[in-house]
Amino acid sequence: MCIQMMKSLMLMFICVGASCANSNVQKESSWADLARRNMVERQIRARGITDTNVINAMLKVERHTFVPTNVARFAYEDYPLPIGEGQTISQPYIVALMTERLDLKGDERVLEIGTGSGYQAAILSLIAREVYTIEIVPSLAQTAAERLKVSGYTNVFVKCGDGFLGWPDAAPFDAIIITCAPPEVPQPLIDQLAEGGRLIVPIGEDFQMLTLLEKIEGQLQKTEITPVLFVPMKGLIEEK
Ligand code: SAH
Repeated sequence: MCIQMMKSLMLMFICVGASCANSNVQKESSWADLARRNMVERQIRARGITDTNVINAMLKVERHTFVPTNVARFAYEDYPLPIGEGQTISQPYIVALMTERLDLKGDERVLEIGTGSGYQAAILSLIAREVYTIEIVPSLAQTAAERLKVSGYTNVFVKCGDGFLGWPDAAPFDAIIITCAPPEVPQPLIDQLAEGGRLIVPIGEDFQMLTLLEKIEGQLQKTEITPVLFVPMKGLIEEK
């Protein structure tokens, strides 16, 4: 009798414990869902982003899982965050703005230079057919590749290397996004941009201008968008 009672009590204890753990998980995901909706309303739509594909992707990708756990609670705030190795993940609005300006329709192959956390690549992967992304810091490339794989972003290909050279085997690309700042656009990337393709890049050193280049009949058409602040491009570009 006594043993039976103890068994029942233990069972109750386990059930209460389990339901408690469950509600913690639920609490966590609803916190992030709400924060994401607020982010999209206040930072993205309010500043004029209208592309539904971009908005849906920003609502879906769990930005807090792309940043170190000690800053995860700030993941949906209106500023960039550190991601280790002295690098940063861009402010959500800048991610949305750059993505919108690529004008993706769904069938494109996109090249990203500067994988960082993998967040921008995840956003692009929900809008384009394939995303090729290059990161120069090995530990960042490895962490991003693992994170993207675990989260099911199967159309993203991550390579560790110098993005200056692009990804010749996978070229040409319908769109190229550079998320570190070079003083000028590396020629191999211009060569790997398809006819009719769009390339977005923060150009400059102390002062940087977010710039869109469109390849029209082999010529580059340039549009300056807004001043920005990105980490500098490293590697071969520094030897130029
Ligand atoms: N898009 C990223 C943030 C990029 S931060 C994200 O969504 O998190 C800029 C990144 O560019 C850094 O990780 C930096 O290491 C990388 N980088 C700098 N120079 C590079 C180069 N030559 N080739 C590839 N990556 C480079």
